[in-house]
Formats: sequence, C-alpha cells, structure tokens
Amino acid sequence: MPVDRSRCASCGQSLTNGYYVLVDRPDRFCPQCIATRPRCDTCGAPLGNRFWQLHDGRRQCDACHAVAIYDPAQALQIFQQTAAMLVEGMGLQLNIGVAFRLVDAPTMSQLRGPLPRGQHTLGLYRRQQHIRVIYVLHGLPKLMFRITAAHEYAHAWQSEHCPLLQNEFLREGHAEWVAYHHLLQLGSRKAAARMLDDHHPYRQPLRYLLNLEAQLGTAGVNAYLMRVED
Ligand SMILES: [Zn+2]
Ligand SMILES: [Zn+2]
Ligand SMILES: [Zn+2]
Repeated sequence: MPVDRSRCASCGQSLTNGYYVLVDRPDRFCPQCIATRPRCDTCGAPLGNRFWQLHDGRRQCDACHAVAIYDPAQALQIFQQTAAMLVEGMGLQLNIGVAFRLVDAPTMSQLRGPLPRGQHTLGLYRRQQHIRVIYVLHGLPKLMFRITAAHEYAHAWQSEHCPLLQNEFLREGHAEWVAYHHLLQLGSRKAAARMLDDHHPYRQPLRYLLNLEAQLGTAGVNAYLMRVED
C-alpha cells in the first residue's frame, strides 16, 4: 500500500500542525498521535485503530505484522538459510552446531531477565554445558529477524572458536559486523547503512570492526578474534 505522506499514518488526519517520522519508516505521524497513542512494541510507531495483539500481550502495527515471522517452521528455515550464508560468505563454520528456538516475550524475559518497560530482548545465545541454543523473539519483522539471527549466530561461533574472548566491545562488535554483512548479502544496503547511524547503540564497536576488516580482510578479522585473550 503506498504511503499517503499528507496524512497521519495512525489517525488519518491531514498533517496541518507539523509531523513526526520514525527511523526506518516512510510514514508520518501527527503530534497528537505521537503524544497520546499506544506504540507498536516492535517499531515504536503510534498504533492506528487497527493493530495486532500477540498472545503474549505485545501489540504490533500493520507494517510490522505484514512481514512478521510467527511460524516456528518458517523461522527455522530462515535461520538455517542465514547460517548457511554466513558459513559460505564469511567462513563462520560451526563444528558442534547450535539449536534454534522461536520464543515469546515472557519466555525471553525468563531466559534473559527483565528489561526496562517497553524494551524487548530480540535474540539470545545460551550455552549450558553441552546444550547450545539461539533464541529469537516470536513475531519479529523478517529483516529484524535476519539481523537478530545473524548477530546471535556470531555469538555461537565465538563460543566455539574464541572461548577465551571476554572483551564485550569485541564480542558485540563482531556480532554486529556479521549482521551488517548479512544485510549486504541480502542486498539490504540501506538497512546496513542504518546500523552506522548515530542512534544505533552498537555503532562504535561496529565501526571498529569495519576498520579492522579494512586492514585484515574478512578471514583476518575472524582469525584476529581467535587470537585475542582478553
Ligand atoms: Zn494522528
Ligand atoms: Zn510496528
Ligand atoms: Zn550480542
């Protein structure tokens, strides 16, 4: 559906008193809706009169719902495709492998511990003795699912190949760098570029890893991480 940029995407009123935009979305919203409407739990957009309530209480806007991954079998298939692309394109082979689970928000909070209101853990990698699992939040829009799956896959790789690496900056930087390259593999150049925007929490470690890559190349970055003992 084309976006009518002269009207608020939530209430449909014409935008006579200025408007707001959100990162990653073409829609415009009136000041009233920004101030008063409940927000989509996924993208933060003010909800319209029609929205989607997930079984765990989260609410999603139409735009997020339209491309969300709800089906565990579909999620597993996309995860496996992401993993195969990261092996092929970035040399991130797993020897032991990792299980995959699509979980709802309460299950994720139990695994991770609660976050401040309005924030959700999108993905998580856990290793408990011989059990290695990647958890991704149910109902994420497809591209967000891909970014999350690639990021957590990188942590699974780190756990196998760099078990001594404690440095949080390098671990998160490497995971974001892998997600960034996965977006490029998928042809999503704009989404990749947005990971370097100012509002992005991991932009500094990501930039650091991109600098490393410029000096060492892709395989060189992975090899470097395997040498760091910090
Ligand atoms: Zn409005
Ligand atoms: Zn949304
Ligand atoms: Zn991470």
